Amino acid sequence: MTKIDGLTEFLADYPGMSLQPTRLSETIIHGQFQFKASGAGLTTKDIFELEIQINKRFPNEIPEVRETAGKIPKTGDYHVNPDGTLCLGSHLRLKRALAETPNLVSFAEKCLVPYLFNVSIKLRDGGDFVTGELAHGTVGILHDYMEMFRLSDPIQVIYALELLGTKKRIANKKPCPCGCRLRLGRCPIHHRLNIFRNAAPRSWFSKHARDVETRRFG
Ligand SMILES: [Zn+2]
Repeated sequence: MTKIDGLTEFLADYPGMSLQPTRLSETIIHGQFQFKASGAGLTTKDIFELEIQINKRFPNEIPEVRETAGKIPKTGDYHVNPDGTLCLGSHLRLKRALAETPNLVSFAEKCLVPYLFNVSIKLRDGGDFVTGELAHGTVGILHDYMEMFRLSDPIQVIYALELLGTKKRIANKKPCPCGCRLRLGRCPIHHRLNIFRNAAPRSWFSKHARDVETRRFG
């Protein structure tokens, strides 16, 4: 079995979850995931039966999570993807959340619990996700990135992802994505973009820019 950072702590924090027999490249944890969370003036304590698939490339690859007891409706407004995986947020937002402490406990606390908190409140009270809509699908991802980069246009976002896939020195000489007509290095936006550089390698940003672009415009 490959070593997953934070696995032991995760299993201690969530005693309802246990390791499953699995293929070599993956670690699978299944069981009752119990948590308590607060936000937007609301608190919930809930339990979901989850299957978490962790690729050996974790944390570079974000785990896939499925709910296996039919408690979460498999629909877009609950942010469940067509393949049954839970849509925990845009790729970059999740990677950014994990950049400082890339381990499984952080994944649970920063990516999984915030999503389940929203689901739990929605199941109880109805309405939309209370801490804001998570990105869903390519359009949702683009909107999420527009907010994170503070850009106003999907084309600017894709270009910004391409710049993050380019060496900083070279990217700084290219036109800024915000439309200011300066080079990136001359616009204050470059500080904001560079914060994301430690969230993923350049190759990831290049590939992600292509993926987002082809799904949006292809
Ligand atoms: Zn600019």
